[in-house]
Order: sequence, then C-alpha cells, then structure tokens
Amino acid sequence: MAPPPSSEIPNGESNGVHVSNSELARVGNCRVECNPVLSQQKISIRGVVDELLKLANPEKGLVSLGVGDAASSRCFQKGKERFSEAVADAVSSSAFDCYAPSYGFPFARRAVAEYLSRDTKHGIREGDVYLTVGGTQALHVCLTVLASPGANLLLPRPGFAPYETACEIYGIEARYYHLQPHWGWELNLDQVRSLADANTVGIVIINPSNPCGAVFSPFHLQQIAETARDLNIPVIADELYGHMVFGDSKFVPLASFAHLTPVITIGALSKRWMVPGWRLGWIAICDPHETFKQVKVAIEMLMNVTSGPASVIQAAVPGILSNSHEEFHKNVLTVLESSAETLYTRIVHIEALKCHSRPQGSMFMMVEINPALLLGIENDMDFARELIKEESLLVLPGFVIGLKNWVRIFFGVPSDLLSEACDRIESFCKRRRPTN
Ligand SMILES: *Cc1c(COP(=O)(O)O)cnc(C)c1O
Repeated sequence: MAPPPSSEIPNGESNGVHVSNSELARVGNCRVECNPVLSQQKISIRGVVDELLKLANPEKGLVSLGVGDAASSRCFQKGKERFSEAVADAVSSSAFDCYAPSYGFPFARRAVAEYLSRDTKHGIREGDVYLTVGGTQALHVCLTVLASPGANLLLPRPGFAPYETACEIYGIEARYYHLQPHWGWELNLDQVRSLADANTVGIVIINPSNPCGAVFSPFHLQQIAETARDLNIPVIADELYGHMVFGDSKFVPLASFAHLTPVITIGALSKRWMVPGWRLGWIAICDPHETFKQVKVAIEMLMNVTSGPASVIQAAVPGILSNSHEEFHKNVLTVLESSAETLYTRIVHIEALKCHSRPQGSMFMMVEINPALLLGIENDMDFARELIKEESLLVLPGFVIGLKNWVRIFFGVPSDLLSEACDRIESFCKRRRPTN
C-alpha cells in the first residue's frame, strides 16, 4: 500500500514511533537493484498464452488447447472424489494442522517410495524421497543443488520451459539436445556426447514426453543411462506423466537403470492424479552404488531452510497413491487415448500440417506447420495468432518451447471437444490455402 500523504501521518509519538519531518520527506525514495536475471522480460508460456487469449474471436466459444490442465474436465472426474475424501479426512482430523518435517512426513515419504518401488528392481526407500511443492519445486531444488560454478546441464529441445528458466536463475548453462521427430522423438546420443564436457552436471529426460507425447522404449532408456554413465553424469528423470501411456506403450521408470548411473526422479500428483492445485510433488534418489551421497546432503540442507507441501495434502498421499483407484486411472487413459487418436487421425489429413508420430502418452502432441501452404502465415506465432483470432482456438506456438514452426496441442479434453477443435483447424487451413 502506498504511504498516506505526510499531512495525514500524526507527527508525534502517538504510536510510540517518532517520525521526523525530514524523514517523511524522503518517503518513496527506496531503490534496490534486483537480481538482473529476474529483471529481464523472458518469453514464457504464460506470457505468450495471455497475449494470444486477448485476441480470441468473441463470436465463438473459446477452446483452449494451449496449456495442460485437465483438472477441471468433467470427463476425468470418475473415481476422483476419493482423492478429495482423503484430504477431507486429514483436514477434519485436525491431526495435520501442524508443520510437517522438512523432507515430508515419514509415512508420506514411505508411500511415495513404495509407489515408485513397484516398478523398479532397485528399491527406493523412505529416506530417498523428498516431498516438494509440486514438480516445479522439485526441479528447482534439483537445479539449485547441481548449480556448481561453471556447471552446464543437458536439456531436451523441444522441452519444458521452466528448466531453462531455472538454469538462468541458478547460473547453470543450458545445453540443448534435439529430440528427433522422425525417430519417435528419441535422442541422438552422439549429439548428447558431443554436448557434454567435464562441467556437465546431468541430463534431463522427460518421459513420457511433454511436449512430444512420446514414450521411450526400455532399450532407448538403457542407451540413455549408458550414455550418462559414460559421461559420469546423473539422469534427472522428469516422470510427471509416468504411467500415462496408451496403445502398446509401456512406461518404464528410468530408475530401473540406476545400476548404470544415479537417477533423480521428479514426480507429482499434478498430472496423473489431476490435482495440480494441490501442489504435491517429490524427488526420489535412486542410487544403488551410493555414489551420490553428497547430493542428498545438499538437498537436505536446502529443504531444511525452505518450506514443503501442506501437511493436510501430505497426509492424503498414502490413500491417493494406493493401488485402489484403478477405475479412475483406467478412465483417464481411455479418454486420453481416444482424444489422442482423434487428434492424430484428423491432423494427418490436413495438408499444411504434419505430425510424425501418434502420441503414445502424456497429454500433448507436436504438429509441424508448413507456412508455404498457409497464406499470410510465416511462422508458428502467426499460426497461433490467426487461429485464435478467427477460430477462438488456442494452441501453443512451438518457439516458446524451442521448436520454431511447430505447435504444441494439448489433448487432455473430451474427444468431442477435440473433434470440434479439429474442425476449426481444418477450416482455418482451408481458408488459408494458396489458390494455385
Ligand atoms: C507440469 C509439469 C511439471 C511441473 O509440475 P507441477 O506439479 O505442476 O509443478 C514438471 N515437468 C513437466 C514435464 C510438467 O509437464
């Protein structure tokens, strides 16, 4: 709040504080230098999305496939009330009005450890798990811990923009490896090797992939882990979309290859359980050879001086992670698979667009646009801008996530809404078709 004009401040000692006239005259002159990294205007998903939303055609209902939040979609609610009940029980018990321990309640950490251990041969123990405020804090903690002077980190392109921002804030040099659209978005491991040097502190792998919808085979995951081993670096496995796979794809956690190199897994309730607003995530360290002890010490040091997720949400974790919610998860995957199929089969028939592979998981697909076949469109931002202006349909221009002339389309919506979106994309592209 702005200070009131000086004449309204009782000049005296009525509240026990003496304020002299000369001090009052200086009010409003406070100047501080902010961290320069934070003062620069950066491209962000939210910034670009807000700009695009302002342009929506008021005559048409907005369909947003630009950001990934499926939490409010009614089609995913089946069986979800049991998550809310678990939180409601914790709240009404009053037993979790207290602070939680720095790394999370032991029983909640154990529940995450048991959940993750179901799929890996390397057991993850309670002491290997740290509870965080969503996946976002998990990645910030990891990057803070790895930010030694001169450090560089290997990131996917296209990727998830907050990694890049976190690198800038913590002074880590981001080096990008390219996911290959023609190869199921797999990594070119020769390129990975060529990027790394003695200052490389890790490689981030997002599997299942946001934004590509790819799911890596166990063979490719092993190749990645072997490459990391050869480079003497850990893998940071962002598995926010773990188990969100369909068709013949199988989700294999990277921690299954932790005998090759240490794996830091990042996860959260946000995507698979569709409660992103509950802000519960985790870091799990899988390090069977215990070569990575100092990293755990650093994480603990940091978590002792920051704050974790709300106690009442932590209290609900064992109930939410239990394997008694088959109906919920099955329904989610059925809806997602059908939406992904609708999107893919419609897009491949649009001449100006190209999608190199069917999504196998997560809630996103990358689509390449061909500006030569679209009048008045020179790039992905033009495409997104004109599309929302004419059709009130929001998609994310790829430049925001490192891939120009592509767009990211979110398919975590009911199939009929996606059909409607595809109708709009199709008529848009038709209208823009060059005449000869
Ligand atoms: C959503 C997301 C996160 C962040 O998780 P929150 O729990 O929403 O903070 C991290 N990584 C990827 C790939 C994501 O899609």
